[in-house]
Amino acid sequence: MKRTDFDRTWRELSEDVITGMKEWRLQHPKATFAEIERALDERLARLRARMLQDAALASAAGDWTAEPEAERPVCPECGHVLTSQGSQTRQFQTQGRQEIILERKYGVCPACGTGLFPLG
Ligand SMILES: [Zn+2]
Repeated sequence: MKRTDFDRTWRELSEDVITGMKEWRLQHPKATFAEIERALDERLARLRARMLQDAALASAAGDWTAEPEAERPVCPECGHVLTSQGSQTRQFQTQGRQEIILERKYGVCPACGTGLFPLG
């Protein structure tokens, strides 16, 4: 699957939210407004985290280490072309306490030692 090919996954996940919510509602006919809201938020948080992860990976999908030197990211401090230090995973926590793990290429400036994750 291409990293930009989310259409089906996202659609399926949205269906899960709708179906899951409908089933939950049938099983909890006397739920209060707050309980309904909480059940919905839990499901939406999962969908939201997945969409966020996919969308973020899409922007990082362009592997800058394969770019010609003139198009590689440069050091924000001194302007030298960054050298790659390989991939590192970064962990984020989003709203709804969902974990997201992104793999990004880490770059280091050979001149001043500044290190960062350039956006693709
Ligand atoms: Zn530098």
